[in-house]
Amino acid sequence: MSVRVRYAPSPTGSPHVGNVRTAIYNWLFARHEGGTFIVRLEDTDRSPERYVPEGIFDIEASLRFLGTLPDAWWVTGGPDAPYVQSQRLETYSDAARKLIDSGKAYRCYCTRERLEAMRASQQAEGKPTGYDRHCRDPKLREALRLQRLEAEGQEPSSVVRLAMPLEGVTILHDVVRGDISYENRLQDDQVILKSDGFPTYFLAAAVDDHAFGITHIIRGDDWLSSAPKLVQVFHALGWEPPKFVHPPLIVGPDGKKLSKRHGATQFAWFLEQGYLPEALFNFLVLLGWSAGSENRELFSVPELIERFTLEGMTQSPAVFDYEKLKWMNGHYIRRSEPGRIIGMCLPYLRRAGLIPDPPGPDAKDPEKEAYRINVLDYARRVIPLEIERMKVLSEVTDLVGFFFKELSYPEGYDEKAIAKWMGVPHLKQLLTAEIEQFGALTEWTAESIEATVRSIGADLGVKFGEVIHPTRVAATGQTVGPGLFETLWALGKERTINRLRAVLEKV
Ligand code: GLU
Ligand code: ZN
Repeated sequence: MSVRVRYAPSPTGSPHVGNVRTAIYNWLFARHEGGTFIVRLEDTDRSPERYVPEGIFDIEASLRFLGTLPDAWWVTGGPDAPYVQSQRLETYSDAARKLIDSGKAYRCYCTRERLEAMRASQQAEGKPTGYDRHCRDPKLREALRLQRLEAEGQEPSSVVRLAMPLEGVTILHDVVRGDISYENRLQDDQVILKSDGFPTYFLAAAVDDHAFGITHIIRGDDWLSSAPKLVQVFHALGWEPPKFVHPPLIVGPDGKKLSKRHGATQFAWFLEQGYLPEALFNFLVLLGWSAGSENRELFSVPELIERFTLEGMTQSPAVFDYEKLKWMNGHYIRRSEPGRIIGMCLPYLRRAGLIPDPPGPDAKDPEKEAYRINVLDYARRVIPLEIERMKVLSEVTDLVGFFFKELSYPEGYDEKAIAKWMGVPHLKQLLTAEIEQFGALTEWTAESIEATVRSIGADLGVKFGEVIHPTRVAATGQTVGPGLFETLWALGKERTINRLRAVLEKV
């Protein structure tokens, strides 16, 4: 039997990284097994927190970004369409009717007031709260219905509840955790169909998993405790439930469930920060899965497809280490084609106002006509110099900002850098010589710049450091950056000279 798995997100906003991990696991498992990966939208909870229409686009974007595209989903359709639960309401109400007819479910006429009073008295008596199965008794149910019919003057609204078996245990076969048994009498008679005709999660998920022929349910750890209710819906409908796979909980460094307290958890944030898809993919897979004896952390997607079996799933909570993710991202940035990184950095520069939007082919320096530097050429020249140091793409604005900003000494210059290097006694001579000799260079290369700076240093009789530091500060406004000669080369001859001249005029 071929593997069929599903990712079943709810449109609640930008997906939590834990859900993104679930999507990746499902996709990888399907690819490894040559199976089918289905994505369906679980949008039957219409409360404003659980139904965020833009959330649908965020889900689509996350799947596209990671390249974990489904074989069938609402975007492309497929043999079991529709893949949106709110478009399958009739299937669920048919199933609910079948369950009522077979006595496996019943209508509940309890009003909110009754349920609240019930809960309050359970709490007062120190008993566990839960539905008291009042309407499971046909006589009590009918009495309640008639009472409301009289009071309301029309057929009262009702929900449908699953009649949980009152004895025995429900056994969940979980591939990761083994068999887990749950005592049935401790389980609530869960609402499976609401009064507005919308199903709740349990009914909708069971009906769809069955309709789609799902073989394995791989989903977040937070669904483990309610799994017996889902299993019971399968049993009540006379269906064999799929196998369950609950990967471990994702926790923060303090061992508590990963939440906003630890840092951002929404996928959108990771995109904004500038994480590469392959880094997120690699990192998230290893949160709860390992390639066994292979002592490795860096894997390409094809390598993961080849290795991904459910036996590799771990049980203990997985710590989300933001620093490790950054490290991994830096690794993938350095390994990437520079052209790709440049392209991915441009939106950050644009948003920071460092390059015009859009950077047309003949975009010029806004101030000085003379530079005539095509801004994209310029970006292509300067970004590679910083790739070595970049951990997330959004850092690019800080790293290359000095290349793009209009510096006008002392504005835009680092104060400490000024204090340390703009007061040295040989500064004027140094800058004067550089302006003159740089101007005379016919070839502007890192080598020709270096030779010039070295010979000026020798003429002045000062140490090398006393030449390069002031030069760097004068040309860039800061003490840190890539190698000085490459930096000046990338700045270009005119921009370098103009900056040095502006400093010379003011000191
Ligand atoms: N809709 C559920 C969620 O948003 C999915 C639960 C499941 O995969 O069974 O997490
Ligand atoms: Zn009731």
